[in-house]
Amino acid sequence: MQLSENNTYQIQGISPSELIETYGSPLYVYDGGTIRRKVAELQEAFSSVNMKIKYACKANTNLSILRLMREIGVELDVVSPGEFEMGRLAGYDAGQITFTPSGVPFHEVKEAVEAGALVNVDSIPLLEWFGKTYGSTKPCLIRIKPNVAAGGNAKIMTAHADSKFGISVLLIEQILEVVNRYGIKVIGLHQHTGSDIKDAEPFIQVADILFETAKRFPDLQIVDLGGGFKVSYKPGDEITDMHLLGTKISERFKKFCAEYGRELQLWFEPGKFLVSESGYLLTTTTVVKEDPARNFVHVDTGLNHLIRPMMYGSYHHILNTSNPGGTEKTYNVVGYICETDTFASDRTLSEVRPGDILVMLNAGAYGYTMSSHYNARFRPAEVLVDHGSAKLIRRRESLKDLLGTQDGL
Ligand SMILES: *Cc1c(COP(=O)(O)O)cnc(C)c1O
Repeated sequence: MQLSENNTYQIQGISPSELIETYGSPLYVYDGGTIRRKVAELQEAFSSVNMKIKYACKANTNLSILRLMREIGVELDVVSPGEFEMGRLAGYDAGQITFTPSGVPFHEVKEAVEAGALVNVDSIPLLEWFGKTYGSTKPCLIRIKPNVAAGGNAKIMTAHADSKFGISVLLIEQILEVVNRYGIKVIGLHQHTGSDIKDAEPFIQVADILFETAKRFPDLQIVDLGGGFKVSYKPGDEITDMHLLGTKISERFKKFCAEYGRELQLWFEPGKFLVSESGYLLTTTTVVKEDPARNFVHVDTGLNHLIRPMMYGSYHHILNTSNPGGTEKTYNVVGYICETDTFASDRTLSEVRPGDILVMLNAGAYGYTMSSHYNARFRPAEVLVDHGSAKLIRRRESLKDLLGTQDGL
């Protein structure tokens, strides 16, 4: 979102008010140019090694976003059969999709393997099952839990000792025993530390652990370091320095490959880094309540459409795009759901009037994909702005979408 010369906010030259006029409110809007820029930034940072991006698509599974990713050479990481099918519908070959389950029923793993996906094995029981079922006939990756604590908050840390994810690195002898007993073809090791990790240090720490562990597996082709890079949430925010991270990790990766005796592929699975900043939730102010305690701004959306502030305490920058440069006032920006769904507390905005369009930033990742029908509200439409023009990529829901699965109609 840029402030243009005539002091109006625009996404590739299109104003939020034009978008709402055409597509209704509230509205998810994604800037394809931002996605392209983020992908290029990651590719450049790792241009000296054989690096592949596997977009963790739980962040945003709109088919048009998946197709855009495919066009620019990004492959997929999925966590469910539904995401796998969406990847296929977006035109991905099964072989370009990695399934990284977390304690799922084994039949889901079977279906994915048989459809041609590569699977990240995340527990000893699954490894046993994989060995018993496939012996050495199917390749797999193993998700290692390196016992490193990093991430923006406890709910999004996934690699500390207490985390449910992956197989503890402390169980390495047991892993090798199962692998050798069945002759399992382990072609990659994987780890994902968590989300919103700013510094290079935790990535280096887990990379070193994974490289050390990798030396125990002779047939590797891939080392997958997961996702979790921190993005910018507000002007002046500290973010992962991708260039620095690229230099440091690439250096270590090359040293590891030399010791290992073979050139391997380095994989990353970012979600947020690729799509968070591309997305905006456009909302319309319904009521401005001047309460003795504080001023409330109610908008025509709530935790049903964007739950991150309530679930994680996430910060989403908010712009009053209808009143740029207006007098500043302090507000609580709240939703219309019958729960306390506060998007922002004590937030300074240019004066908000009923009907003003408020835009929430960083809505491209874990926005629509985490939305619900709570309070029997419809999900909003989604629009992709790319190469200077806007396109509806998902229509707004109606009562039919809400009732579609119910009996007794
Ligand atoms: C969610 C997830 C990611 C992406 O995390 P981000 O913080 O969005 O980059 C990567 N890998 C796995 C296995 C995940 O579950």
